[in-house]
Amino acid sequence: MEPVGGDASEQEPAGPGNREPGGAPSQINVEAAAGDFDRSAEAERYSERLLNEGHERWEGERCPICYLFIGLPVSEHAKINTCCMKVVCKGCELAARQRGIYDRCPFCRTPHPTDDASELAMIQKRVSKGDADAIAHLGRQYYLGRLGLPKDVPRAIKLWTEAAELGSLDAHFMLGVTYYNGYGVQQDKARGVRNFQEAAMKGHVASRHCLGVVEFNERNHELAVQHYMISAKMGDENSLDNIKGMFVGGQATKAQYAEALRGYGNAVQEMKSHQREEAKQVVI
Ligand SMILES: [Zn+2]
Ligand SMILES: [Zn+2]
Repeated sequence: MEPVGGDASEQEPAGPGNREPGGAPSQINVEAAAGDFDRSAEAERYSERLLNEGHERWEGERCPICYLFIGLPVSEHAKINTCCMKVVCKGCELAARQRGIYDRCPFCRTPHPTDDASELAMIQKRVSKGDADAIAHLGRQYYLGRLGLPKDVPRAIKLWTEAAELGSLDAHFMLGVTYYNGYGVQQDKARGVRNFQEAAMKGHVASRHCLGVVEFNERNHELAVQHYMISAKMGDENSLDNIKGMFVGGQATKAQYAEALRGYGNAVQEMKSHQREEAKQVVI
């Protein structure tokens, strides 16, 4: 999922360190100016960190069986097992089937849930133990109204907020998408962006891509390229495509496109395996 551009009205400044508008000049302004200076210095340090951190993918997107990073988007290249919340790549899933393991989790061997109610019960069992991934996953079920649950965005947001505090980067990402776009909630772009930033700095690729989209929407083209470059080098094709589009539109240089293409190619190469190539040939 990707945030779509905002409306055509005046763009709201996004991110931390924004200054409050207005304020009549007075003697207090000396202190206020010093405060602003501190804030802008802090904002600058944060912007630097944002671009310097999170160049390595987070370990949560590594297959727990073959230890290779999962192809992007993860949902197309792997399946989540709600018994243990492990996301197993399709290559390892195929290998398990070839060994006769069809109806069990390829990681922990728990039998797959047979219906929505048993799947929900599995998730809730892990939620009750404080598993951040399970809490985030349950939030997604409420958001989409799946597994027999009513669609309930406020409940989803509550669960994602809890999961994010426990360290789930996917939860930050979902909060980012929901707030930035105002999906079922009062739109709050700055809040959405802060969630993308938190996750991107820890190597969450989809969140990094979204920061590129955010900056592009704000017409900060150079910054957009810098974000896309990081996610393209971690193997994100959408980011590579966007740099290509910007190159064609004269907003990115040929050298930047070449660098993205090289980095993307290397990442994709590292994610390849015989099992995964074989899995592409069959429907799993
Ligand atoms: Zn694997
Ligand atoms: Zn399992």
